[in-house]
Amino acid sequence: MKKSTKRSNAVKEEIIQSRLEYLWNAALSYGTTIPGISRYYVAIMWEMGKRLNYRLDSHTVKRYFCKKCYTIWIPGKTVQIRQTRHKKRRRVIYTCLFCERCKRYGFSPSTSQ
Ligand SMILES: [Zn+2]
Repeated sequence: MKKSTKRSNAVKEEIIQSRLEYLWNAALSYGTTIPGISRYYVAIMWEMGKRLNYRLDSHTVKRYFCKKCYTIWIPGKTVQIRQTRHKKRRRVIYTCLFCERCKRYGFSPSTSQ
């Protein structure tokens, strides 16, 4: 029976997830007060996720920090968010106020025919 390996993988993944969550929460809590520490936590979290080949949820975590300087994006404080329209496509542009890196996110038209 090789049930144990499957189970240990699940446990391992749970541990990774809880560690990454802890780092993310710590980074969030220091986001406005001590940005330097916040960036440090995000950098560790990102590197750890990459090294362990762990997929960070693209719709939650990835969109909320700058991948160049690891600053957590807090609208109006560390990031500027603009919306544009191009050929019925809505686009959201995130500009990091720390390193001025721009990141565009496209959305398909929400109105269906
Ligand atoms: Zn940045």
